[in-house]
Amino acid sequence: MNQKKKIIIIFFGPPGSGKGTQAAMLGEYLKLPAISLGELFRRESLRKGKLAKTLKEIMSRGKLVPQEIVEDVMDKRLREKDARAGFILDGYPRKKIQLEKLSERLRKILKPDDHALAILVDVSDREVKKRLSKRRVCACGAAYHLEFKPPRQRGNCDFCGGRLITREDDKPEVIADRLKLYHKENKPLIKYWEKQGRLIRIRGEQAIGSVKKDIIAALKKELK
Ligand SMILES: [Zn+2]
Repeated sequence: MNQKKKIIIIFFGPPGSGKGTQAAMLGEYLKLPAISLGELFRRESLRKGKLAKTLKEIMSRGKLVPQEIVEDVMDKRLREKDARAGFILDGYPRKKIQLEKLSERLRKILKPDDHALAILVDVSDREVKKRLSKRRVCACGAAYHLEFKPPRQRGNCDFCGGRLITREDDKPEVIADRLKLYHKENKPLIKYWEKQGRLIRIRGEQAIGSVKKDIIAALKKELK
């Protein structure tokens, strides 16, 4: 792929679609930073200073990070040296206002020949429910999936023997709410990229390696 042009890729996909994993793998492949908003917040919150303190407080209460802080953190990250040749975004933009801010930034940094594309890792609601409902966690931090990464002994942690539980977030009622929110927030954003002919739809209901292959094949076509 022609790497002299700047490449910006935005990942979309429901919870459980594996888009974070795909974003990270594509980042390695293209040698571009894969920037996850959630990860950025966690990283920032571990630093010293006022912003870190504010973030820690917001996250410990499970509240939403205010829009100004989202943009500050994003601006700072995108100005880092490794993002000069481009970057991959995961978990941002999530709201219309964030899309507007991002478009503003792209207008400033992109030349006509550069690339800005969105990738949707498409997974049906039914499959999301199936995938998330099979996740289990242990109090020690270990995570399992009854289908893809089952514990050796049913119901117990491989590391500490603790009893495995379903995270609050992965209970059926909560999954349904998360999906509703996902569709409400993401539909207009996905439509925006689709209208411009810059949306790549990838079938997410296949093995991780096959999803990755499809993404790279589709990108090669686009980035020619
Ligand atoms: Zn454990």
